[in-house]
Amino acid sequence: MKTKVEILQGHQIGGCITIISTEQMKLVIDFGESLPGTDNVSNVDFDWQNENVSGVFFTHYHGDHIGRMEEIPEDIPIYMGEVTYKVMLNIYQALSRHDDNMAKKAEWFRNRKNVFFIQPDKEERIGDMIVTPYSVDHSAFDSYMFLVHAYDEYILHTGDYRDHGHRGYVKGRNIPLAVIQKYITRYGRRKINMLITEGTTLTRSGLSRYTEKDMLHDADVFFRENKYVFLKISSTNVDSLASFAVAAQRNGMKMYVNGYLKAQIKIYQKASIKYNTKMYMFNNVEKLQPAPVKCKLKPDRIKAEQQRLRMRRNGFIIIASEKPSFQQTIDEFADLPVKTIYSMWRGYITPGSKAFNQELYDFCKATNAMEMHTSGHAYKDCIEKVIEVVAPSEEIRFIHTEAVNEFADLNICQELKNKVRWE
Ligand SMILES: [Zn+2]
Ligand SMILES: [Zn+2]
Repeated sequence: MKTKVEILQGHQIGGCITIISTEQMKLVIDFGESLPGTDNVSNVDFDWQNENVSGVFFTHYHGDHIGRMEEIPEDIPIYMGEVTYKVMLNIYQALSRHDDNMAKKAEWFRNRKNVFFIQPDKEERIGDMIVTPYSVDHSAFDSYMFLVHAYDEYILHTGDYRDHGHRGYVKGRNIPLAVIQKYITRYGRRKINMLITEGTTLTRSGLSRYTEKDMLHDADVFFRENKYVFLKISSTNVDSLASFAVAAQRNGMKMYVNGYLKAQIKIYQKASIKYNTKMYMFNNVEKLQPAPVKCKLKPDRIKAEQQRLRMRRNGFIIIASEKPSFQQTIDEFADLPVKTIYSMWRGYITPGSKAFNQELYDFCKATNAMEMHTSGHAYKDCIEKVIEVVAPSEEIRFIHTEAVNEFADLNICQELKNKVRWE
């Protein structure tokens, strides 16, 4: 291929960086942080002063894709979805309250020059390269695949994706595959030279397919019997938050969140109008008032007491935290038969796992948490389908995976297997 592709830190989950260049231009897709618990927790050096980068595109707002954004000099344009921008800013602002560095970061991001919002199916021209984003199903709300066109060659970079979220299967149609067929390969009329795909689940054997819809159903059934629930979940996992909120609504219950998450949910609500779906409306989400005994002013105390009465009468889902500050909420409702749901990756609470988190483990143990979780990443059969549909003419590269060839027993035709390059 004439277009040069360089993948940094591809053999780890997280720390995503892909460099695509022609003789004139150089693009970077994602500039993420290595995740704790991976083999490589250090971050690769990148010489921004001498690399001569023309633009950086972000697939979505997860830290392993966008976490090192601050290092990018301000004269280099960065491209991301509008929701990604707003979610990042909200995270910085929320953390600013207890952290001066975060306050500076929020200020810097609000004023950063050269931030451009991308739109699905809208081309961005960077010199002799054209980048077209396509919206894709993932646990993050505003996620994109990128089709890069340079010379006469096409490269498809998937970012993180799946087909089992609320935007995966709609009315029996596999949406990511339909988008790839219709817009990217144009039903086989456009030849894709290289596919760069995520492969998170390739080393996670024994995963059985469990979709957001399955989880919504299970949560609905669970909430019929269990009216008082603590839920430990990632604040940016919009699909699973929506599953639990909808299940709660079906049972006449509300979801109670802190101020930060309430602001985050407002961003999702506004953006969801675009998707024309009720799934992300979050109509039954309310900010959890401080415990009445903590309220100094009488009106605040009355407001908190009224909320507590409603919560005890109708039931609740409270978004929980493993931090010590959550203990007072646990104590406040200690007289009720509260159940705790853990809806994050099992690796964080599995002793001996590289990503083991003691605080989270202790919280789950103390509250006797039960698991209800669906992966943010494509199952192996979805990755295989994407490979078959894209059917790249030259090369297949995996990123965001610890798999090397002996792990990946891919169920794809031999011709495509021969195009997989692991290094
Ligand atoms: Zn992600
Ligand atoms: Zn990721």
